[in-house]
Amino acid sequence: VKARGKDGYRFYSRSMCIDSANRLSLERDLRLALERDELRVFYQPQVCAVSGRTVGLEALVRWQHPEQGLLYPGDFLPLAEETRLISTLSEQVLAKACRDVGVWIRNGHPDLRLAVNLSPVQVEHPRFVESLMEQLEACDFPPQNLEIEITENVIMNDLDQISQKLRKLADFGIRIAIDDFGTGYSSLNYLHRLPIHTLKVDQSFVQGIRSGEDGACIVNAIVAMAHGLKLDIVAEGVENDVQLAYLRSLGCHQVQGFFYGRPAPADAVVGSLQNAPFR
Ligand code: C2E
Ligand code: CA
Ligand code: CA
Ligand code: CA
Repeated sequence: VKARGKDGYRFYSRSMCIDSANRLSLERDLRLALERDELRVFYQPQVCAVSGRTVGLEALVRWQHPEQGLLYPGDFLPLAEETRLISTLSEQVLAKACRDVGVWIRNGHPDLRLAVNLSPVQVEHPRFVESLMEQLEACDFPPQNLEIEITENVIMNDLDQISQKLRKLADFGIRIAIDDFGTGYSSLNYLHRLPIHTLKVDQSFVQGIRSGEDGACIVNAIVAMAHGLKLDIVAEGVENDVQLAYLRSLGCHQVQGFFYGRPAPADAVVGSLQNAPFR
């Protein structure tokens, strides 16, 4: 196993599932996919737990592979990160998402939020802040409508540097969410040192609500802490009304999951933007 820097081990171990012949052809295909515009952006609604209205959309990348059909991020993101194709991939995803959501923002949904996932490789790039701002300006997308989702592991790599970068983005109006909160290797010490707006409760904790006290306990603690720190909360992976009712009773602000909708292409999510009555 070759050393590949701070994040190397994780990328390496994740991509070990792909054997090397497959890897080569997948890498070639992915390069072609970026040239041939085969990436698709799906959107999953983030719903207000009180009103039932869609307040945000998380962009999730898919790859319409010419032979293999629709591929999910788990099939190709590790390779994209390892080969640095991730920067082109991310640019394409952001451009598409800003175009789609920009149209909806200008057509009756001025507060609609676009949430995008950022890979550690992107965030660690020296020109990350500048290129993100440039891209938003190029697509004329309002920064206040963008929320970037980063994981705790990114933060722990270099707290001082990440802090400077996030501060610039926050000053520019961009919102910052911690994704998969509670699952990373980090202390909580960063929470009041960084300009964070939202905690996303990982779906593993939400799924624990059904199976007994222990799982629910962690959700209780995260929501209470977010309230204390005046952070927004999005609970991920909400699949049934038991989970929803419980999260509402805790005062969780927003929910996201199959209960409200699976990630879907742009034309299929437009309908969910209308003021849906609570169900
Ligand atoms: P994530 O950011 O934690 O996204 C949530 C994942 O959970 C998505 O998987 C989504 O389809 C799935 N999910 C949503 N609701 C439910 C539910 O109720 N139950 C269950 N069991 N699952 C649910 P997906 O789309 O396969 O994405 C996997 C991961 O890939 C994402 O995890 C994110 O880390 C990464 N990813 C996706 N799109 C992008 C992208 O454009 N850029 C980067 N850097 N990463 C991305
Ligand atoms: Ca996410
Ligand atoms: Ca997540
Ligand atoms: Ca995840």
